[in-house]
Amino acid sequence: MGIVNDVLDDGLGGLTHNVITGRIEDLVNWSRSRSSWPATFGLACCAIEMMATGAAHYDMSRFGMEVFRASPRQADIMIVAGRVSQKMAPVLRQVYDQMMEPKWVISMGVCASSGGMFNNYAIVQGVDQIVPVDVYAPGCPPSPETLIHAIETLHQKIEDGELMKRRSATGAGANIHVTEIPAGPTPVLLGSR
Ligand code: SF4
Repeated sequence: MGIVNDVLDDGLGGLTHNVITGRIEDLVNWSRSRSSWPATFGLACCAIEMMATGAAHYDMSRFGMEVFRASPRQADIMIVAGRVSQKMAPVLRQVYDQMMEPKWVISMGVCASSGGMFNNYAIVQGVDQIVPVDVYAPGCPPSPETLIHAIETLHQKIEDGELMKRRSATGAGANIHVTEIPAGPTPVLLGSR
């Protein structure tokens, strides 16, 4: 009778988490975080790890992300997987501009995040110069575990609604740096998901 007593004591506020008192905003954020579709966009060697993350061993479909969309108009996550050349930068920005709102960006690997070992005029020294980055996944290349860590971090922020508030306030990316996780012999265990 705990629920009844909670309602008697505190009214509807006593119902902590249920469909009656849930907000539509929370429901939208929850469904967004579990149905984000990445744009098909691999630039260099990091893309191999991104593809591995989508394959059976790591199985990105566990996050509702199995569909890499060939059209940016059907995608809301850009995973920048690899170095960005100056020639590719305007193309990358065009793909980003064509993606659905709200949209998010993960910078995968040191090359995308800072130019990495390619400290020269041909490579963009950080993709944040082109698009707002929400999560940085470190490594060369980041393991699928690290990419999954970045994805789960992003999903948590989408679910919180924090990213939407920050984007409307500043227009900038969330700029979150996750820690690197070495590749292991077994896939990442996902707790409740
Ligand atoms: S970070 Fe390493 S693996 Fe990724 S694109 Fe650069 S050189 Fe390749």
